[in-house]
Amino acid sequence: MISPEGSYERIFELLKEHHDWMRNSIPLIASENVPSHAVKEAMVSDFGSRYAEGWPGERVYAGCRYIDEVEKICIELAKEVFRAEFVDVRPVSGVVANLSIYTAFTEPGDVMMALSIPNGGHISMGRKKFGGTAGSVHGLKVEYLPFDKDEMNIDVDETIKKVERMEVKPKLVMFGASMILFPQPVKELAPFFKSYGTHINYDAAHVAGLIAGGKFQDPLREGADTMTMSTHKTLFGPQGGMIVSSEKYAESIKKAVFPGVTSNHHLHHMAGKAVALAEMLKFGKEYADQVVRNAKALAEALYNEGFKVLGESKGFTESHQVVLDVTKYGDGFEVEKLLESANIITNRELIPEDVEAKRSYMRPGGLRLGVSEVTRLGMKEDQMREIAKLFRRLIIDKEDVGSVRRSVAELRAGFQKIHYAFEADKEAYEYIRIR
Ligand SMILES: *Cc1c(COP(=O)(O)O)cnc(C)c1O
Repeated sequence: MISPEGSYERIFELLKEHHDWMRNSIPLIASENVPSHAVKEAMVSDFGSRYAEGWPGERVYAGCRYIDEVEKICIELAKEVFRAEFVDVRPVSGVVANLSIYTAFTEPGDVMMALSIPNGGHISMGRKKFGGTAGSVHGLKVEYLPFDKDEMNIDVDETIKKVERMEVKPKLVMFGASMILFPQPVKELAPFFKSYGTHINYDAAHVAGLIAGGKFQDPLREGADTMTMSTHKTLFGPQGGMIVSSEKYAESIKKAVFPGVTSNHHLHHMAGKAVALAEMLKFGKEYADQVVRNAKALAEALYNEGFKVLGESKGFTESHQVVLDVTKYGDGFEVEKLLESANIITNRELIPEDVEAKRSYMRPGGLRLGVSEVTRLGMKEDQMREIAKLFRRLIIDKEDVGSVRRSVAELRAGFQKIHYAFEADKEAYEYIRIR
């Protein structure tokens, strides 16, 4: 039987071990980042125990005097960061932000267009038969946006042909993706979709921090009506979601978020988002610029070390991501586990080639890397070339895992602090005890 004292102690032991592991690892998961101590402080505040359903000033509960002030600041910062007229900072995750868009702008049974998962789509845009949120929670019929796998992007001409042939036109199109190397053709396709009255959303879950820093693309200026995002991938955390748009869609979005898909909206996360947005407003340009430089440097270096890097014809990447085809060395699962044993943390990924090869998400052919977290640790192009060498030693040269693990720890030793933050001398993975 599980004992209360024993499990209580064990939980804290495991948390500390996790922190030690992160301190000695190279974190390359594209959907992750490391928050500052400032964001963490907001997260452990009493806000995390309170209720504040509704909009600041129109709450369903008393006790929101200070919560309302913080949320108003959070909204103002987000408006500035994304140059948007309206922001809803309440969605508790990127999936909930997308579900709010489905709720606000479609009815169950409507047709939505999005990328399929092997082409970069996210499960929240998925069909019912795959358990996707769009299909199984909101009853949308999902039609795939045609994809050009050499360009690693949405195929504009094929999309136009497909929509023209469709008997029932799409009510909603979701741009954006989980595997996203290049800016998508929003500008090219927005007038076409608008001619059918299709609502255009850009899911910036992955690239929101790059957009905030003025890199990548600017969907709201290119014709997107609304933009959803996660707040912790290229943004500085904490985990959460957000929606930005013009004033015109404000009321529909507010109603969809509350009472639609959230009741209380995790107020400590909201406070953390406010802090992270202030950091983004101050340091976002410099950070986004270095993220993209690092991704390009890592992609080029991996290519030079002998790896198959996707997007070659377009210069590999314009985002924080690098995607490898690792089928030559087994599959994404085996390579992910091998890297993990050397403390290099990545995730396997379905890639376009996997469809014909009938590979599944458990054993796909791809590996996705992201450089947002190592950039926040202060790494630059030189370290990207070192990381690529570690990949070669481990995967191609099949060098002993222990010796690569030691090199990983050596590389990490010089990069333990948080950068692009107001208090820049803080240990990134310090275990903070307040018991
Ligand atoms: C990660 C991701 C989401 C979901 O975000 P969560 O914050 O994990 O709920 C939605 N859309 C895309 C494209 C993503 O990559």
